[in-house]
Amino acid sequence: MRVEPVSFPSFGCTGPRGRIAKILVETPGTAPGSTTLIPRAVYRHSQGADPSGTDRYRDDGPRVQDDVEIGWIKKRRTWYARQRSYPEHEWWPMFSNDQKSAIEAARAAWTPTRRLVVPALEDAMYEPVSVLDTGFVRLVDYMGGDDGIVQGARVSYGKGTKSTSDDRGLIRYLMRNRHTSPFELAVIKLHVRAPIFVTRQWFRHRTASINEYSARYSVLEKEFYFPRPEDIAVQSASNKQGRGTSLPPEQARQVLDILRDDAARCYDHYLELLNEDAAGGTVDPARPSIARELARMNLPVNIMTQFYWQINLWNLLHFLRLRADSHAQYEIRAYADAILGLVEKWVPLTYGAFCDYMRDAALLSGPALRVLRAVMAGTPVDPKAEGLSRREITELATLFPEIAPRLTGG
Ligand SMILES: Cc1cc2nc3c(=O)[nH]c(=O)nc-3n(C[C@H](O)[C@H](O)[C@H](O)COP(=O)(O)OP(=O)(O)OC[C@H]3O[C@@H](n4cnc5c(N)ncnc54)[C@H](O)[C@@H]3O)c2cc1C
Repeated sequence: MRVEPVSFPSFGCTGPRGRIAKILVETPGTAPGSTTLIPRAVYRHSQGADPSGTDRYRDDGPRVQDDVEIGWIKKRRTWYARQRSYPEHEWWPMFSNDQKSAIEAARAAWTPTRRLVVPALEDAMYEPVSVLDTGFVRLVDYMGGDDGIVQGARVSYGKGTKSTSDDRGLIRYLMRNRHTSPFELAVIKLHVRAPIFVTRQWFRHRTASINEYSARYSVLEKEFYFPRPEDIAVQSASNKQGRGTSLPPEQARQVLDILRDDAARCYDHYLELLNEDAAGGTVDPARPSIARELARMNLPVNIMTQFYWQINLWNLLHFLRLRADSHAQYEIRAYADAILGLVEKWVPLTYGAFCDYMRDAALLSGPALRVLRAVMAGTPVDPKAEGLSRREITELATLFPEIAPRLTGG
């Protein structure tokens, strides 16, 4: 049955004595036609908080870090000395208490199943892995594992396992020979919170299914990514797509001031255009309330968004090869590294094969192979004459530093 969207702000639900029991709104991020109604108190949970600290940075003194354990969450927390104290849940600022309760309830529930499960991944279910300052990656579902890959490869009736060493050998053979289809049989679904400039790179990977929080539908939360001072660096002189050395702390602090000022100002203007208070009411009835799909226009790309991401294992490995790589931007690499941690738990045999045959492997061109063979045979060779460009020669010399002088003529 198609459920039409309920026009915001809300409508009441009549309780036993005829009173309005709860104000219900649609869940954030749902598209028209897939509506779920939840109490507005839950919906508004994170409005009004300022977890990214846009308002509390400037006079807060030196930065302090330590590790805390709050219930099931282990987190490296960072704050500024002389900061006012915050309720406990703000130490893990991306979750309200309602959200934490929902995650805890999901983790506490067990369902018997006949499916192949991976105990290490069951253990990680629903638990957020902290990424950057207020981002996370959270496993919400998966299908298959190393056993399922082997089962699919052998097209077997049962579990398909012969012995662990047979399975390992088969998986490594499949990976080495790019026999990809058995890996496509395994699927993972993640809940991700990341800055919009990271998701722009992320969503270039077309072989996944995505549902993102709708800023046409819901009000974006006041949450921005601000890099750590040591991650603020100058433009790289050698790589047009990269950063060079980090700024000295005082300059990094000035950059952070600019970023925080801009974020705070833009978000204030966003609220002004929306003409909405933290509870969803109209601030000034004399002013127009601009549509959410328009009011968001001035927001910077370091604002956080959220999405569900489902992808099969082969396409995920392709994503990880590109994004958990030193050429990828640090911020998306941080997410890729977090996902790699989950992949290692999920499919340890495939993860090992991926590291050996994809992540840590190198592709050699025909001319590069000819040059290498000549060097190994001790015969004179001119890499340029063999057709290698200066950049290819540098790359080859980086891969094989032992023979670099022979390649570069040094
Ligand atoms: C370090 C780095 C720098 C980058 N810089 C830039 C940049 O400056 N500008 C920019 O625009 N992008 C840039 N990108 C993005 C890049 O060009 C790819 O769009 C992105 O990495 C997705 O890769 P993909 O197409 O292989 O992945 P997916 O979209 O997941 O596709 C996986 C595979 O499926 C196949 N496939 C999917 N769709 C098609 C299709 N339509 N036609 C044919 N085959 C298809 C291809 O084999 C592809 O490799 C960069 C990426 C990286 C990692």
